[in-house]
Amino acid sequence: MIHGPCGTLNPNSQCMREGVCTKQYPKEFRGKTEENINGYPMYQRKYTEFLRVGRHDLDNRWVVPYNPWLSKKFNAHINVEVCASIKSAKYLYKYVYKGHDAASIRFENEKTLDHDEILSFLDGRYVSAPEAMWRLNEFNLSEKSHTVVRLAVHLPDQQAIVYQDGQEEEAVARAATRQTTLTAWFELNKNDQDSHNYLYTDIPHYYTFNRTAMKGQKRQRGGEQVIGRTPVVNIQDSERYYLCVLLLRKLGSVSFDDLKTVDGIVCNTFQQACKMKGLLEGDQHCFGEVNNIPELWFRYKDALSEDFVRQYSEDSGPQYALAESEEFLKHYNLNLKKLKLLTVHLPDALSNLPSFDILAEQQKEQINAPKLNEEQKLVFDIILKAIYDNKEDISRLFFLEGPAGTGKTFLYNTLLHTIRGKGHHVTPVASTGIAATLLNGGRTAHSVFKIPIVLNATSICNVKPNIQEAKLICDKKINNLG
Ligand SMILES: [Zn+2]
Repeated sequence: MIHGPCGTLNPNSQCMREGVCTKQYPKEFRGKTEENINGYPMYQRKYTEFLRVGRHDLDNRWVVPYNPWLSKKFNAHINVEVCASIKSAKYLYKYVYKGHDAASIRFENEKTLDHDEILSFLDGRYVSAPEAMWRLNEFNLSEKSHTVVRLAVHLPDQQAIVYQDGQEEEAVARAATRQTTLTAWFELNKNDQDSHNYLYTDIPHYYTFNRTAMKGQKRQRGGEQVIGRTPVVNIQDSERYYLCVLLLRKLGSVSFDDLKTVDGIVCNTFQQACKMKGLLEGDQHCFGEVNNIPELWFRYKDALSEDFVRQYSEDSGPQYALAESEEFLKHYNLNLKKLKLLTVHLPDALSNLPSFDILAEQQKEQINAPKLNEEQKLVFDIILKAIYDNKEDISRLFFLEGPAGTGKTFLYNTLLHTIRGKGHHVTPVASTGIAATLLNGGRTAHSVFKIPIVLNATSICNVKPNIQEAKLICDKKINNLG
């Protein structure tokens, strides 16, 4: 169970991308196991001396996590990881449902570099003997253990209705006679004293809701395999929110009015009922306002930055998240400074938007540049000359055309590394989000230049002069339209 080796020992290893191991080997020696931000634990790796493995001297840092019992039992390489976060569960879920193993394959006589994208996109499917046997026998590929019962939370006569165009009235009439899980719960409480022992959300453990008549019936068995789930109700949707608060606390209600009855008095609103019952802590419940915004940011920073971390880096990800928040805040006449977010964290988050490590960029350039073919090199030189040559009469707008798969993106990224390696800013923009993700630090043209989504003859870009974004655009060495 030894990884690679890769890195300087074997720069051509499959795991190597742009000079670094995508699996981050060799790992570091570590005194104890710690959880990593992405849910992959950083396992304890005790210090060991080098040991001869094949042609290399390796130590504990190269060992892929494994379980000796499993390896011996199945006489195979088996990578065993601890699943410790919701992300790992999502990852497993994806593998259960993503279907067959598939690969793009192509047979060739001679070694040739010419790359036909259409041919290579023929989807190959591989079914191993054990899998074929499993499928022929129609064994289950996956199993589910729990049933999730979705419980309706709606105000009187405001349940969701599904209708076909032109049949709205029939749908409303039908809904009037039909129970939802909530009204069925009221009915149940009228007829069954035992149900008064359970909250609305716990009812699915003990009763089933019959779909056709939507009637609560006592369960014979299997209740422990059931989860009742209510929708998340936003506090801005206030009456429904307070209805939900009451549902999570009150037993045996027989109607909406009963639900908002406190000490024999029927309250006018669910909010009032909550207040009478002492369920509101101060005023903040009424307006959904946040007391401590910086704390809110710190608490959800990881979740908010997730996409940006994947696209950029661990360090600059949160900066992008803040910059994006600033965009949203503008609509409310707010900004990060007003919310005290800039002073507590990343004071220059916006002015330094994407921060790249100059040395790392130079290294990437040194790896990429020699790989440019003749035509790519020609374009590369012309564009660099246009950027760094101060002649007035030099052309500075270029259109690069080439069929898919001929290496345009590779050329763009090499240019990006080169310019950033010189310590200059560059914003790669693309017409679509998908295309932008292919470019290192790429954004969409719509977001950078504030191009309106619906275009007409009088449309203009919405970048205002003298604000930070406008300065950033002017400061750019190059704006690359991919
Ligand atoms: Zn590696």
